[in-house]
Amino acid sequence: MEHYNVEQKIQEFIAKIEAKNPNEPEFLQAVKEVAVTVIPFISTRPQYNGMKLLERMAEPERTIIFRVPWVDDNNEIQVNRGFRIQMNSAIGPYKGGIRFHPTVNLSVLKFLAFEQTFKNSLTTLPMGGGKGGADFDPQGKSDMEIMRFCQAFMSELCKYIGPETDVPAGDIGVGAREIGYLFGQYKKIRNEFTGVLTGKGLAYGGSLIRPEATGYGVVYFAEQMLKTINEDFKGKTVCVSGFGNVAWGVVKKVEELGGKVLTISGPDGYIYDKDGITGEKVDYMLELRSSGNNRAEDFLKKFPNVEFHAGKRPWEVKCDVAIPAATQNELDLDDAKKLVANGVVCVTEAANMPSSLEAINYFLDNKVLFSPGKASNAGGVATSGLEMTQNSIRLNWSSEEVDARLKEIMIGIHKACRDYGTEEDGYVNYVKGANIAGFVKVAEAMLAQGVV
Ligand code: GLU
Repeated sequence: MEHYNVEQKIQEFIAKIEAKNPNEPEFLQAVKEVAVTVIPFISTRPQYNGMKLLERMAEPERTIIFRVPWVDDNNEIQVNRGFRIQMNSAIGPYKGGIRFHPTVNLSVLKFLAFEQTFKNSLTTLPMGGGKGGADFDPQGKSDMEIMRFCQAFMSELCKYIGPETDVPAGDIGVGAREIGYLFGQYKKIRNEFTGVLTGKGLAYGGSLIRPEATGYGVVYFAEQMLKTINEDFKGKTVCVSGFGNVAWGVVKKVEELGGKVLTISGPDGYIYDKDGITGEKVDYMLELRSSGNNRAEDFLKKFPNVEFHAGKRPWEVKCDVAIPAATQNELDLDDAKKLVANGVVCVTEAANMPSSLEAINYFLDNKVLFSPGKASNAGGVATSGLEMTQNSIRLNWSSEEVDARLKEIMIGIHKACRDYGTEEDGYVNYVKGANIAGFVKVAEAMLAQGVV
């Protein structure tokens, strides 16, 4: 009877969110994943019952949508759409990246902002959840076009952010160069030099290790997952997707820990290297990314001995550990079946929501170690939190200090997932663990602050 009631509550909750947010498939996917694990937990905690905490968390505190007009190199006027979702400020100022990609829309940014709220809570640092971006395609744009776009975007965004209000950072399509231009424009308009953005260059308040942090954090987390079955990275084969900043950090750290990365990928297909992606090839990932060219196939120009598989995903390659580090919904049920059939033991998400709900359930049903991005990729935003601290105290920490704190935070998140996600047979359901652990801190803060 009790079970039936909880199931019904979940269905009613999802139906309500669906009715309120039609045409937002990514947002609904993210909310569903949380609802099925958190609603049963809420029903065992009388203090949370009836407080509509999850419903409040699924409604952004504020959604800002704005016009971004700019002039391209041909003197033609371009019009893009800019967004900032200020999702939840219960535990700190809104915090989360900015994404520039043609697929950016309200659904994508709401899913990212929703996930960010839980992720930021898991870091234990005082950061609320937010996300922003524009449907701008950086591919093929000149440096001056990128600068003008960033300035136009910040001319409007600067009205809504600030070091104590909302602190954006990078995401897909927004790296150190874009953060520099965004920071410059904010400073010019507001006449303030503050830690309003993270992921800044070292010369003007950035943190050492921030570029590597997301990827390193993912691998520190995966190391903890492997440890639960008395394994480590030594001699393990690893399939990675993507070739951006996150994939780069993952590949570097896996090599350092003795694993062999067999694949990386782009939107055009994947690179397979039986000897492992190491040394110069890792450096080339950065070169390729900064070229503004989104083609993994270009690897062949410099390294003709690697294989390129056009239009395919790397999940068909046999490996011990899979690390999706590209983008949302890049690993579906078929991919999950291939990985499991090939004996994968650990899947650690590095991107945000790279696996579909069906793929996640397949991993969980097969008792594969599986961790959701909101737990395993939290090292990026955690290090942003460390950048904010350094900006506030006006000091810079050494790489060793930042890296040690990052590692400690990832170990802490892993422990929180285990505490809330260990099932009766000892299997750790990291999805459940991350959702509940992330929820509890935000829920406590919201309860204390009243209905606001
Ligand atoms: N965009 C990154 C993420 O998905 C980093 C956000 C940040 O550093 O604020 O967590």
